[in-house]
Amino acid sequence: MTLDIERIPTLGDNYTYLVVCTESGEAAVIDAPEAEPVFAAVERKGCRVTKILSTHHHPDHSAANPALAERYGAPVLAHVSDAERVPGFTLGVDEGDTVKVGQHVARVLFIPSHTLGHIAYVFDEGKALFSGDMLFAAGCGRMFEGDANMMYDALCKKLSALPDDMQVFCGHEYTESNLLFAITAEPDNLDIKNKLERVRAIRAKAADDWHDASPDEMTIPSTIGEERTTNPFMRARDSEELGRIRLAKDSF
Ligand SMILES: [Zn+2]
Repeated sequence: MTLDIERIPTLGDNYTYLVVCTESGEAAVIDAPEAEPVFAAVERKGCRVTKILSTHHHPDHSAANPALAERYGAPVLAHVSDAERVPGFTLGVDEGDTVKVGQHVARVLFIPSHTLGHIAYVFDEGKALFSGDMLFAAGCGRMFEGDANMMYDALCKKLSALPDDMQVFCGHEYTESNLLFAITAEPDNLDIKNKLERVRAIRAKAADDWHDASPDEMTIPSTIGEERTTNPFMRARDSEELGRIRLAKDSF
């Protein structure tokens, strides 16, 4: 069974994902702020969109839900608490629920703090985590609605417990600037240093317009194993340390 994952560049630095079950041709769209790039990718793939998934309510992850739902006649899934906030919301999911995309199954993880209704989708067999704005490569999203305890549970317990080879597909191409902060948080960490060099080489090829980005200028996916060695937030020993690092990053 193959899970085909297309990375669609949207807005200025967002990632929208088109996840296709190659056996059935069924597909899910994850975190779409713009409809047109998704329409084009779906056309190219010749897949059938049966679900629209949001990790959280922010417009840069959900604004295109109604347009996609109308075009594909597909339900819009998000956390059960976000019925009033996620555009086009039709179906609430929560920790422990599963979401099928053709023959593939994703588990829902409840990981609040960037927002109070933030979830992740984990395809255990497909080895793919869709982490929205909670976990970025070498970073994490701001704590807009929750606290450091919630963030510690999400990053350092739930997501950190996933296998090393789990691929991380996050909401933004922020890897280079995150690594620049990470190296100040952990100046002696060689894994961070090496990854920064690698990422700089990749990003040096970047197109002027993110919409035109080709796969070879994308630093996503990362992996959970890599995050465990290079992500200062996931590496925090307790919620207090995590809160301190988050505060430092806010003003970096
Ligand atoms: Zn967000």
